Amino acid sequence: MKRVTNIIIGAGQSGLAMSHHLARRSIDHVLLERGAVANSWRKERWDSLRLLTPNWQSRLPGFQYQGDDPDGYMTMPEIVAYLDLYARHTAAPVETNTTVTSVRWDGQGYIVETDRGDWYCRTVVLASGACNVASVPRIAEEIPASINSLTPMQYRNPGQLEEGGVLVVGASATGVQLASEIQKSGRQVTLSAGEHVRVPRTYRGRDIKWWMDVTGILDVRYDEVDDIARARHVPSLQLVGSPDRKTLDLNALDALGVQIVGRVAGLHNGRVQFSGSLGNQCALADLKMNRLLDHIDAWAKSTGLNGEIDPPHRFEPTRVSSNPTLMLDLSDRAVKTVIWATGYRPDYSWLNVPVFDRKGRLRHGGGIVDAPGMYVMGLPFMRRRNSSLIDGVGNDAEELADHLTASLFQAAA
Ligand SMILES: Cc1cc2nc3c(=O)[nH]c(=O)nc-3n(C[C@H](O)[C@H](O)[C@H](O)COP(=O)(O)OP(=O)(O)OC[C@H]3O[C@@H](n4cnc5c(N)ncnc54)[C@H](O)[C@@H]3O)c2cc1C
Repeated sequence: MKRVTNIIIGAGQSGLAMSHHLARRSIDHVLLERGAVANSWRKERWDSLRLLTPNWQSRLPGFQYQGDDPDGYMTMPEIVAYLDLYARHTAAPVETNTTVTSVRWDGQGYIVETDRGDWYCRTVVLASGACNVASVPRIAEEIPASINSLTPMQYRNPGQLEEGGVLVVGASATGVQLASEIQKSGRQVTLSAGEHVRVPRTYRGRDIKWWMDVTGILDVRYDEVDDIARARHVPSLQLVGSPDRKTLDLNALDALGVQIVGRVAGLHNGRVQFSGSLGNQCALADLKMNRLLDHIDAWAKSTGLNGEIDPPHRFEPTRVSSNPTLMLDLSDRAVKTVIWATGYRPDYSWLNVPVFDRKGRLRHGGGIVDAPGMYVMGLPFMRRRNSSLIDGVGNDAEELADHLTASLFQAAA
């Protein structure tokens, strides 16, 4: 069995950022990665996807975007190349094509089994990702066999879809992007929208991500919010990263011809029922967007920025049909495909340590897992609002590396 002080599972941005900080603290470690560096960006995303965070915001510890388009949005090959370069820049000790199949505690350290031999370590960092599997509601099992049922992890481009209508369930970043692309391919899309977060791509001439950065919204810590469990489940922003910097909200989709309906409420005998709450959900999303814009305006005024940027303005409220569709009959063959853009979750099926709560969620406080010397990275709102984003992993890794180092010193004392 090979021995090392720390093992990091996963070589995405989270694992690489942690590796950088452990190296700076002279902690010997290895990253075990089932594929190649940036495997999730290489293998698990659709073809046309671009980051929805601007290039300048792909900041990693000791590394930042150096290209000539800081306000652009990277394609998948570009983010893969960027993370590859970061791994080389930090000389990260990555063992590629090495799948972790089990992690066990033996009373003093962790036995980490892989498909290429076993390891032993005193501390372990789970950087295996927050989006390993698509979260699909139970109701999906009721979809008639004649209809194709897909997750965003299986979707690559409209060309793989049968001709005919498509029902996209979920109107967060993934759902709105897929709905737009598929509608433009000539298929009629119905988009089922439950709770969603509406934001404009740009406001007062600046990217919304720039505003969220300068106003400190992304740096809010997990111990500063009233209800962290709720905060960790807020849907992703309705955003797309495109060269024309367009806003992709329900109004934009409506203008493309996408039919917007409420959240899926039931599915019986091939008939999908939609909730009648669409109007309320849209009104709530508009209200929250306007609150965010109020906050931005107040910040711009208080910092004296007002003279240098476009004046404040508000966006048209979401247009909602007074008579929205409440039922779709899948047996009439108009819809050929259903795509479940209903979120993602981590997969810890290989983690044989009792660190899960009744709902199967990892028990941790700001990334410090409820097991000796075990840490996690990259989960939504883990230590800060941006913990699951590229820009957020640096601060988290630094703080957790400090904690990990202190725990090793304590154990040695
Ligand atoms: C569709 C989509 C779009 C996104 N867009 C953005 C964006 O624009 N900007 C942004 O900042 N964030 C974005 N994110 C969020 C986040 O940046 C990504 O999810 C990112 O991939 C997370 O990085 P990570 O290192 O935490 O996890 P991952 O990139 O998932 O890396 C985890 C690594 O662990 C490996 N692994 C998993 N299990 C094992 C195992 N058992 N053994 C060995 N290796 C294992 C995987 O192969 C993978 O390489 C997006 C997420 C999704 C799903």
